[in-house]
Amino acid sequence: MTDFKDNPHFQLFLRQKNNQFKVGKGTYSQRVKRLNLLQRAIEFTYREQIKEALYKDLGKPVVETELTEIYQIIGDIKHAKQYLHKWMRKQKVKTPLSMLGSSSYYIYESKGVCLIISPWNFPFNLTFGPLVSAIAAGNTVIIKPSEMTPHSSALMAKIIEDVFSEDEVALVQGKAEVSTELLKLPFNHIFFTGSPNVGKIVMTAAAKNLTSVTLELGGKSPTFIDKTANIDMVAKKIMWGKFMNAGQICVSPDYVLIDESIKAKFIEDCKKWLKNFYTEQPEHSESYARIVTQKHFERLKSHIKNAESLNATIEIGGKLDSDTKYIEPTLVSNLKEEASLLQDEIFGPILPILTYSTIDEAIDYVNSKERPLALYVYSKNKSNTKKIIENTRAGGTCINNNVIHYANHHLPFGGTNNSGIGKSNGFFGFKAFSNERAIVKQHTIGVTELLFPPYTDLKEKLARLTIKWF
Ligand code: NAD
Repeated sequence: MTDFKDNPHFQLFLRQKNNQFKVGKGTYSQRVKRLNLLQRAIEFTYREQIKEALYKDLGKPVVETELTEIYQIIGDIKHAKQYLHKWMRKQKVKTPLSMLGSSSYYIYESKGVCLIISPWNFPFNLTFGPLVSAIAAGNTVIIKPSEMTPHSSALMAKIIEDVFSEDEVALVQGKAEVSTELLKLPFNHIFFTGSPNVGKIVMTAAAKNLTSVTLELGGKSPTFIDKTANIDMVAKKIMWGKFMNAGQICVSPDYVLIDESIKAKFIEDCKKWLKNFYTEQPEHSESYARIVTQKHFERLKSHIKNAESLNATIEIGGKLDSDTKYIEPTLVSNLKEEASLLQDEIFGPILPILTYSTIDEAIDYVNSKERPLALYVYSKNKSNTKKIIENTRAGGTCINNNVIHYANHHLPFGGTNNSGIGKSNGFFGFKAFSNERAIVKQHTIGVTELLFPPYTDLKEKLARLTIKWF
């Protein structure tokens, strides 16, 4: 521990380390009490301030804040309170005959001192969601939220200070350098949500202390649409899933792969639904968010410029306003493979439309890229759907919908390889913050004791019989 004494966060870490067993021993009622305090703060005390902060940081419409931030966290808390009793129970398992005289079980015990590093796109949800799991599992926690959404981070700091003592849960604000310092400390678990590139930095730092990690990352989530799909319904759902939070969602459809015979109809229906959702002037719509920072605005603008320079077709949208960080919902087709829109995760309101002539061709394209966080299939054809699922890999999938798999607390949420390691949500989040400790209890003399040294011919025969029969 002396190696860390110059670390600016070491004293805080030490206070939590010294408190970890007290918190870890917390009963169901004590953990629920903590969750209730957090629930009250979010649902009542700070609800309006949360909406204000998100409006200032992201221009987030109030309904989106209610549904994608507040509802999600309150749902996480209610779900944990409902099932925590069951999760905390001793989990009895069978004991083999060769261990006669003993019984076996395992327990989910707290990991200890945990670090949560969160991104900016759903600042409250993606900070407090993992926090709910960490508290349910009986951990102490240090949080480092994103510097990109300063109003939200400052408010979260206030909420945490109000609800928890520093040796239970603390929040440290600041830029990436703050994470860098925190990552040097020997946490018992790190839960990181962010980009794959920073995920690699986090995992490298964690490896130095052999700290376990949950990495909730991003990537390019493909959307398959075959000829049998109901195009009008598909357009409606994709226009909602893609342009909510101005496309700044880890599970939003990154690009569409559509049978070329239905492309024109799909674009027409998308136009109709965009007009329906945001009017013909989305820049004046109260339902449409803004890009988080100037840097991200410039990044997205350069994608559009790059597509135009490669003679792609802007089917819908394309308007930009740097002063308000506004980018119109934009659909682009006829993209060349080298277009930047097809290389990196877009994370903004631009949707590339790629066409295919066979499902196999579309599957091969997806498999030539990194494994996605989400993959969506729109089809009424069961064998096409099965074929796509069986021949691809992704963190999660919706069939005939998008985004909503995130909202089911009974499902694991997370990616695979480049899109993430480990799962969160409900029980899976509780598990991520727990150590499964195996316990064998000896009740009487065990049969294994018959095989202790000194070894004789008889013991060799007994060992052989054990292998044969037990
Ligand atoms: P990011 O990786 O840039 O930042 C995430 C956090 O890491 C922030 O708190 C930031 O301060 C910190 N950070 C940045 N650089 C760092 C460094 N060099 N060392 C240590 N810490 C550093 O991600 P972002 O821009 O905030 O969020 C967008 C990304 O997050 C997208 O890739 C998106 O898909 C992903 N994401 C994933 C999920 C999920 O649940 N899987 C949810 C939301 C966002």
